[in-house]
Amino acid sequence: MPLPPRERFLSCLHQRSADRPSVGNAVSAATVHLMDETGCPFPDAHLDPDVMVGLAASSHEILGYDTIAPVFSVQHEAAALGCEVDWGRRDLMPDVVGRKYARADEIAIPPDFLSDSACVVVLEALRKLRARYPDVALVGKVFGPWTLGYHLFGVEPFLMMTLDDPPQVRRILDTLKEVAVVFAAAQFEAGADAMTLADHATGDLVSGKMYEDFLQPVHCELARRIDGPIILHICGDTADRLGAISRTGFECFHFDSKVPAARAREIVRAEGLLDDGRFRITLMGNINNPETLLRGSPDDVRREVEECLRQDIEIIGPECAVPLTTPTENLQAITEAVEDR
Ligand SMILES: [Zn+2]
Repeated sequence: MPLPPRERFLSCLHQRSADRPSVGNAVSAATVHLMDETGCPFPDAHLDPDVMVGLAASSHEILGYDTIAPVFSVQHEAAALGCEVDWGRRDLMPDVVGRKYARADEIAIPPDFLSDSACVVVLEALRKLRARYPDVALVGKVFGPWTLGYHLFGVEPFLMMTLDDPPQVRRILDTLKEVAVVFAAAQFEAGADAMTLADHATGDLVSGKMYEDFLQPVHCELARRIDGPIILHICGDTADRLGAISRTGFECFHFDSKVPAARAREIVRAEGLLDDGRFRITLMGNINNPETLLRGSPDDVRREVEECLRQDIEIIGPECAVPLTTPTENLQAITEAVEDR
């Protein structure tokens, strides 16, 4: 008997035995084809809980994944913090217009942050999904303080500040981490089984040493304070910080194909095992978006899935938010390849 998807996903997330590895998405799996098939397009799917539910459910209903992850964009927190957000179009993700802050002491987290419509839509969608899909894993999403720093201060000014004024960067991270704590707690209460924490301290912009210096201590604190399993998402090449990431206490790391599955497994193995014999962190993701899922064939997808299976990647899925024109058959090929093993 196959396990129900939620049970399979949670077993794999916690490295317990399951009928097979899980297939799931930690970030958006929405495409224009899935919008057409469900009748639930962007930008409404960011703003209306019923449209969000309809599009998000396609990852389970159409792609066969064990997960439903209803937060497609990266801008809900920024909107609730008072940034002007352009919610985009059917084929364009939302973006912040301009930037809001120049200094740490300007950041103001409104006391009614969770009542802002940008947060309410996510919480409402999770409640509806929980009622409708008791056996499917629901993955919420919050943004870590590094990514929020990019959104609120602008990527370049924020990165310049890491060189010019490190104490100010620490104050910013210290303030913005509270957004993740509050929003994650609310999403768990609304029915999420696990929480993606996206914090883009990505290899080409941030060195491994910077990650350990600025962000790893904050991540350790978030792992302690957020009550529920966390999936850290950082795209790009993270090989030089994967060891540090595995020591944060997060349950899972959602990683990019720029780190080959064998390399990720080797790094995690080198960190040693926990007292109960599990690896320090579960691995998720790794199927390449721009070449394989967007432009490759189902057979190309299968070959990458087979390598993930050989490396015992616990949860297999797209490496990051999928490009909006990704063919459905390629996204389905991940599930088929894992089922056929
Ligand atoms: Zn990403």
